[in-house]
Amino acid sequence: NIVYLNGEFLSIEDAKVPVMDRGFLFGDGVYEVIPVYSRRPFRLGQHLQRLQASLDGIGLANPKTQQEWTQIIYRMIEQADYADQSLYLQITRGVDSRRNHAFPAVVRPTIFMMGEDLSTSSPEQREQGVAAVTAADIRWLRCDLKTTSLLANCLLRQMSVAAGCIETVLLRDGFLSEGSASNIFVVNDGMLLAPIKNHLMLPGITYDVVLELAAQHGLRSEVRDVREEEVRSADELWLTSSTREVLPIVTLDGKSIGKGVPGPVFANMYAWYQEFKATVMRA
Ligand code: PMP
Repeated sequence: NIVYLNGEFLSIEDAKVPVMDRGFLFGDGVYEVIPVYSRRPFRLGQHLQRLQASLDGIGLANPKTQQEWTQIIYRMIEQADYADQSLYLQITRGVDSRRNHAFPAVVRPTIFMMGEDLSTSSPEQREQGVAAVTAADIRWLRCDLKTTSLLANCLLRQMSVAAGCIETVLLRDGFLSEGSASNIFVVNDGMLLAPIKNHLMLPGITYDVVLELAAQHGLRSEVRDVREEEVRSADELWLTSSTREVLPIVTLDGKSIGKGVPGPVFANMYAWYQEFKATVMRA
């Protein structure tokens, strides 16, 4: 499988980054994960816009124009082994001669891209739902930036693995923030609830799609602070992300959510999502 590193297309074995790269030493970088269906990137404009916001947030100049990114991404997709893939793109603040927290005087960012097999969700996960645990959100206060400093997310995600679950739902001061690698939605009495996009969560591209689809199809939704009790007593709980799309969480900390099976609102949203994807991909 071919990867992109600093202007070159290489085999993954040949792609090497110096140990003095600030991505390696400090986790000083940002990234995006773009789903590709039938060799077409989904919501590319929105992903590139969020990439720009992340770069702005860490004070790193965008090394490429929108057109250049689009060109490289299409070249990656053409060469990929799979028609459906998850395209990973990361930019770090590059290599310095010394290990120094302060930025280098001259920054030459390291740009890396790879494609991985897109394994969205399995039919079993959609039909039976998945289990999750909750944990206190121990992350920093700029969760809106998609940075490669993901240690807290890794530790939190591992808690769900240890519990035999697939996601950790994060709570901060009694309110829902998001999942360790997903956004979280609540359905209560036919109303879709989503936390407000702010510095405590990543503005998910899938989150936006779900809210747009709700509006289009007349599903009532409210974007506001969501209390922990509302999560625990939800009729339905979903996770969303570019790679997993929409998935129903039916067990939280070992207790059933709603009836303990995927709900009717999820079934609708899943169908709307697939229909929307097909329409976009046909266009
Ligand atoms: N929150 C976090 C912390 C994530 O890592 C992700 C997935 N990368 C998301 C939310 C979902 O974002 P998106 O829908 O853009 O994949």
